[in-house]
Amino acid sequence: MRQLLALLVSLLMFRARSLFSLSSRRHGSSTARFSSATSTIGQADKGGGSDGMVNFYTVSEEEFKVIMKAWKQPSFRVGQVRQWVYDKGVLNFDEMKDLPLALRQQLSQSFRIGSLHLASEQISKDGTKKRAYELHDKQLIESVLMPYDDGRFTACISSQAGCAMGCVFCATGQMGFFRQLTSSEIFEQAQMFSAELRAKGQRLSNIVMMGMGEPLANYENVMEAVRRLNTELGIGHRHITISTVGLTPRIRKLADENAQVGLAVSLHQVNDEKRSALMPVNARYPIPELLDACRYYVAKTNRRITFEWALIRGETDTPLTAHELGKLLRGLLCHVNVIPLNPTKGFGGKPTPKAGVDEFCKILGEYGISATPRTRRGIDIDAGCGQLSTELKRKQKKSVATLEEEQGALASGASGRGNGDGDGDGDGDDEEEGDDVPLPVSLDVAKERERVFSVCDKS
Ligand code: SAH
Ligand code: SF4
Repeated sequence: MRQLLALLVSLLMFRARSLFSLSSRRHGSSTARFSSATSTIGQADKGGGSDGMVNFYTVSEEEFKVIMKAWKQPSFRVGQVRQWVYDKGVLNFDEMKDLPLALRQQLSQSFRIGSLHLASEQISKDGTKKRAYELHDKQLIESVLMPYDDGRFTACISSQAGCAMGCVFCATGQMGFFRQLTSSEIFEQAQMFSAELRAKGQRLSNIVMMGMGEPLANYENVMEAVRRLNTELGIGHRHITISTVGLTPRIRKLADENAQVGLAVSLHQVNDEKRSALMPVNARYPIPELLDACRYYVAKTNRRITFEWALIRGETDTPLTAHELGKLLRGLLCHVNVIPLNPTKGFGGKPTPKAGVDEFCKILGEYGISATPRTRRGIDIDAGCGQLSTELKRKQKKSVATLEEEQGALASGASGRGNGDGDGDGDGDDEEEGDDVPLPVSLDVAKERERVFSVCDKS
């Protein structure tokens, strides 16, 4: 046991050193690969829970080999354990029946498998599965699995808890920004679906980063997750799509790195004034600059860009807008995904009816631009990003309020609030007694947005 602890400590120290020493990370050399895989461990483990155990998903195959060797295990056990975790999706070492009991115990004492706790799951009539996970610090994130008729499965995963970009029509934007997800938290969302599919003889084929958050504002962790989706789950870069609100310096960075991932850009309006009203990012990176970055991306990567276009009745769906969009995008290697607005509580816009959607696509076709209406999946379960979490956040707050009421009743006449910080606002932000973790509070989104922009400009 002492030997194991020493090993884990030295592993973590090695990782910490790697994290600080590595200024430019590339996927080429094995050292860099090792460092890059482990750079997240510092974050994941610090943030991965209070049990002091190592999250197995943050351990690369190479690292695990080192550990198993030190444990004097035969090398075939490495593959055996990893197969249980990645192919069979078990979340508990006790289920690994072909391992000796002593090894199972040793693993259970050192690692936990994953850090996501399923908070809610809804399954739509069309087979779309929507999940909310609660993280160790009570953050809520969402992921969606969409089955298609041709047997493919696409997972839509989150990159941040909340989002600071503030697009007015978006449920995630409306809830504020809480924190970046670690690469492991991003990766695990896909891993959960992947393992379940594999157990049924099916395969997760595609990933879209179109869940909560702005992936390019969490660039390093997203790219690390992409690398692991590729190496651990066998999902090719070309089957992974990153969707961005339009952080142009990061679009250029992505192009320069020639990461062969798909790029989707949320455009939604044709002129700066109107786009800025919907999407604050536009004030910093306006349309001409955005399209320049898109042209740069296409020139560098030879890849087609997808533009996302939400059809808001009377606002973004008129024939005139379609013509303007056609002129704007003419000649660019692109595709337009047209999707009727998903109504959200904080935005009064209405979705465009089907006839309007078809007409909009037809007009774009006249400019030689391919456009397809994106089917709205899981309509009956509110599968628009951020909607389920918004609902759960409300419940979280309610249960904390109830808990506080109960505690208040218990405490009255006794010693009162022992450790309260005295702000007494009853919004659940106070430190709870015992193990309770306070509810996450949104950062100042305008400040966070500015911070992101200035970091992007420097990168
Ligand atoms: N932050 C990234 C990715 C997450 S949002 C981005 O903005 O691209 C994924 C997509 O859903 C984006 O195209 C976004 O504009 C769109 N979207 C958000 N809220 C929507 C809504 N209520 N109706 C339709 N599309 C929406
Ligand atoms: Fe953030 Fe994307 Fe929502 Fe805009 S649309 S607030 S960038 S998640």
